[in-house]
Amino acid sequence: MSEYRKPLPPINHLSRPFWEATKQGRLILPRCNHCGTFHTYFEPWCSTCGEEGVHFEELSGRGKIWTNCRFHRSYFSGMEESLPYNVAMVELDEGPRLMTNIVGLEHGTLDEMPIGMEVEAVFESVTDEVTLVKFRPVRK
Ligand SMILES: [Zn+2]
Repeated sequence: MSEYRKPLPPINHLSRPFWEATKQGRLILPRCNHCGTFHTYFEPWCSTCGEEGVHFEELSGRGKIWTNCRFHRSYFSGMEESLPYNVAMVELDEGPRLMTNIVGLEHGTLDEMPIGMEVEAVFESVTDEVTLVKFRPVRK
């Protein structure tokens, strides 16, 4: 595997289950034991109801593009070589929204990834520790 120069997520005891699952091609997220809200952050507490206690639950990996944009400037070290690149917020079928990239497009332009387009998770291994979750259009 060639050296990966883009930013990598911090992995700690709270986020490790998520990153272990992505290595297996599974998408899981923390869910509040009390109110059932899915979290896209790794904390032992819930920002919706204020209670402590979460567990991980597997998601379908399917959703729709909720919003999109294209970066023409590098704000993060290592991203220069990928400019311009797209960033999207995907709303999963189960409700939570993930910040991600859309892959599998011909040119990666915004008209290829309109808001509302159905997408599915793909898993991109970038280091021994980290497999990123990205999304591609659902093929019909
Ligand atoms: Zn809660």
